[in-house]
Amino acid sequence: MKAASRSDLYSKLPSVDELLRTPELTALSAKEGQVAVADAVRVVLGRLREEISSGLLDAAAVDLALAGVGSVVESQVRQALSYSLRPVINATGVILHTNFGRAPLSAAALDHMREIATLYSNLEFDITQAARGKRDVHVDRLFRKLLGESEGSVGTGASQACPEQSRRVQPSEARQPSAPISTIVVNNNAAAVLLALNTLAEGGEVIVSRGELVEIGGSFRIPEVMAKSNATLREVGTTNRTRVADYERAINEKTRLLLRVHRSNFQITGFTEQPSVEELVGLARKRNVPLMEDLGSGALFDLRSIGVSGEPGVLDSLRAGVDVVTYSGDKLLGGPQAGLLSGRADLIARMRANSLFRALRVDKLTYAALEATLLAYVKRDHDAIPALRTMRLSKEEVGKRAEAIAGRIGTAKLSVTAIDGESVIGGGAAPSAVLPTRLLAVTCKGLSADELAARLRASNPPIIARVDEGRVLLDLRTVFPDQDDLVARTLERLAQN
Ligand SMILES: *Cc1c(COP(=O)(O)O)cnc(C)c1O
Repeated sequence: MKAASRSDLYSKLPSVDELLRTPELTALSAKEGQVAVADAVRVVLGRLREEISSGLLDAAAVDLALAGVGSVVESQVRQALSYSLRPVINATGVILHTNFGRAPLSAAALDHMREIATLYSNLEFDITQAARGKRDVHVDRLFRKLLGESEGSVGTGASQACPEQSRRVQPSEARQPSAPISTIVVNNNAAAVLLALNTLAEGGEVIVSRGELVEIGGSFRIPEVMAKSNATLREVGTTNRTRVADYERAINEKTRLLLRVHRSNFQITGFTEQPSVEELVGLARKRNVPLMEDLGSGALFDLRSIGVSGEPGVLDSLRAGVDVVTYSGDKLLGGPQAGLLSGRADLIARMRANSLFRALRVDKLTYAALEATLLAYVKRDHDAIPALRTMRLSKEEVGKRAEAIAGRIGTAKLSVTAIDGESVIGGGAAPSAVLPTRLLAVTCKGLSADELAARLRASNPPIIARVDEGRVLLDLRTVFPDQDDLVARTLERLAQN
């Protein structure tokens, strides 16, 4: 009896062709293409069949569903043909957030990418010689300018080991002019570390402090990258204390490299000790073993200018005499995803000659975005780089925008107030690298903070906020000013419903 009524229900369903011939779907096919609409019809009919088979629908419900089937098919088509990768409004106050694509690119980077992407270019062509060229020349020249500049003009100058102690080096210690710095680009910093370890230490040993055997983002772990590079990890010291003598004792005929890794997502405090970069440089020179530093973030501008100290800069490490540094293009540098290897030209040349480099290299779009970003540094136009402009905003500037929104909304249902808080640099800058900001604290009668945050995420574009102590917190520092109105209107809608 039950089975018979079910087959009656199935027989109510029209065929795909019948549905496609209805005026509504004929019009939709003319707009979106018959193939996409037919696919959507199959999905919608399949869903109905499943609901009938699980006993969810009676005859009346099937009739009702069929009456509205045209608009259901239309929204199915729209969903299938829309992008999965789409913008979100980042109201978390985390400036470089890996989940949100890290650094937003500058307008100049986009213009340059569009031109290079849509036309032919001299990516690997020497125009004057009419000969094959190298793709790295386009950015290497800018890195030379930025990393070879006179003392004090760029860089952070702060040591990660002892923030209170300047890491500036004496001229006698400084890199010889005969040892120029060159830079190559690979897919990301993980690739940069892999390439460097494989090139410099394959079959040999790399000495690393036990306090620096870090994991970044779940899949990048120093011991595992070391194993993949075919180098042997030689751990020295302890989790909290490692001295330069520990490194020295571990050096033997198999040692190929001393590696220092920036603790970019945690801090060790209390009874701690870590050799200064200068001490490690001294040991590396004395024993004639190269020293590499995985900076991760790698600032090319002075973070102290925004009140953040203790973050190592690329230039500081190179000036101190580190032979090779690795860092990301889309962390503090504010450019596209990339892994940068800067350092002694002879070592970098060996990495370029490694066949792994060919597998890890980047495409023309990355070079275009990187070149435009680096040019902004050369021009000292830091505000042209969105991530840097965001970091340089004062608490007062963010506060004015927050108060403008708070003043616009506020009903019996929705409370919106501006309060003091902190933005986070993120992206491998020290966890303690925070900036004072003003937040919008939002509560809504009848909704928990988690439910309110979910409503904000469900808006278009999704607004991502923090939840703290029963409130939703929105930090406008990471919201672009032309998105303020959208945030305000979304809150207004919540206040009314
Ligand atoms: C972020 C980071 C990495 C990985 O860089 P990706 O660009 O994400 O590949 C490696 N080492 C350190 C110290 C980092 O901070």
